[in-house]
Amino acid sequence: MTDTKIRFDGPIVMIGLGSIGRGFLPLLERHIAFDRSKFVCIDPVDTDRRLLDERKLKFMKVGLTKANHREVLTPLLNTGPGRGMIVNVSVDTSSVDIMDLCHDLNCFYIDTVAEPWLGFYDDPKLTLSQRSNYALRERVLDLRKRKPGGVTMVNCCGANPGMVSWFVKEALLNVARDTGIKTDVPKTREEWAALMQRVGVKGIHVAERDTQRARDPKPRNKFVNTWSVEGFVSEGLQPAELGYGTHEKGLPPNGFRHDFGSGAGIYLAQAGAGTKVRTWTPTAKAQHGFLVTHNEAISIPDYFTVREGDKVVYRPTCHYAYHPCDDAILSLHEMAGNAWARQPTWKILDETEIVDGVDELGVLLYGHAKNAYWYGSRLSIEQARKLAPYQNATGLQVTSAVLAGIFWMLENPDRGIMEADEVDFKRCLEVQRPYLGEVFGEYTDWTPLAGRPGLFAEELDTSDPWQFTNVLVR
Ligand code: NAD
Repeated sequence: MTDTKIRFDGPIVMIGLGSIGRGFLPLLERHIAFDRSKFVCIDPVDTDRRLLDERKLKFMKVGLTKANHREVLTPLLNTGPGRGMIVNVSVDTSSVDIMDLCHDLNCFYIDTVAEPWLGFYDDPKLTLSQRSNYALRERVLDLRKRKPGGVTMVNCCGANPGMVSWFVKEALLNVARDTGIKTDVPKTREEWAALMQRVGVKGIHVAERDTQRARDPKPRNKFVNTWSVEGFVSEGLQPAELGYGTHEKGLPPNGFRHDFGSGAGIYLAQAGAGTKVRTWTPTAKAQHGFLVTHNEAISIPDYFTVREGDKVVYRPTCHYAYHPCDDAILSLHEMAGNAWARQPTWKILDETEIVDGVDELGVLLYGHAKNAYWYGSRLSIEQARKLAPYQNATGLQVTSAVLAGIFWMLENPDRGIMEADEVDFKRCLEVQRPYLGEVFGEYTDWTPLAGRPGLFAEELDTSDPWQFTNVLVR
């Protein structure tokens, strides 16, 4: 167990006491020496306030809104000494508006998604492009442009988005070493992008397999998952999105470009929860995952873009390829059958309800001289139970990333708004690693053309196995 400990004397406001908030509490107490009288947790639901009462930590039963957030948060953050800090692990609260406030109040801020206010995800007035994670990320980048510098705030610093950006760098260095490419550890974004290009990586899957199994079978009409059901359903019903690499020959069927922003990503005019891709993880080997949109699918390829003048000469493709726990697969199937209307009830499996399984979450760098390399964390429910209370394996991969991000933020206090791709990956992984179970890399000769065509004719691009059109299940 790491003996990492840091001191923070200012007020701390944790927004959200859901599966991630509950799991973050013990890590906060273990690793951050803070003034307990200046801590407060905010959530409109008080089902788990016992956890705070037992610890003599304050709880405020309130839901933040666009109208009330400044009024509610400002007095909580202004009690001193020094800067305050917000840890936002809620749904339906705008990352951009709360970061804007933190910038004005000179307070640290960290979250795990670029979250909008309630009503964004299912707003029928928005176009698909406006309802995308690409658009949500652009709002964050726009705030950074409007209010550059200042106190450090880390946006999207969970497991994914978050930790996987650190894995990409570690994996890239390993592939460079194993393919005989000599390099120092790059120091700038440009150097990282140039190394990705030199190694010849065509793309990256954030490839995850969650095998955690519940003691009780999933009941009908209940959405069951290992983390936020609200979060998963919201992103699942956004359009499927991916960073689109320079090796791709053309847009995929149903694929569109955005007419604003970085240009790093595209979207498909269909729900991510209904879009499957072929991918690979060490436990599953070849599997289908869902192309659910995620911030890192845009931020990673944007970070690793090489330009000559204004012209993009290299960019890797990048997307999530998520096989959630089996109960979540059944839940999605049930929901799809009901024209994507969410089940009336839902459940996040806690550590006492899961009998076995792992969350295997990593990055698959493909298209280079050694074909494909997966690098990531395999954390079992048994390991998670021993390491920290109140969370399953999925939760611990997230909460430990938040902890790592806070360490980096407090050690680098004046960097303005940052994405996980831009923070010190070595320092963050050093803090986080004790909570990640097995962290390892594995090469594979699998490609999306493996075993194809089978018994049925298919349209395949055999000239390049790593074309996205081969990856997409049609
Ligand atoms: P959860 O659904 O268990 O909890 C969310 C909490 O937010 C709930 O307690 C809810 O009552 C609260 N909330 C809702 N509206 C609110 C409001 N207006 N003001 C304050 N609180 C409000 O979700 P979770 O599993 O704890 O996840 C929390 C967040 O972390 C979600 O946004 C989720 O998408 C994100 N997440 C990110 C990662 C990652 O790896 N980056 C992984 C898991 C979860």
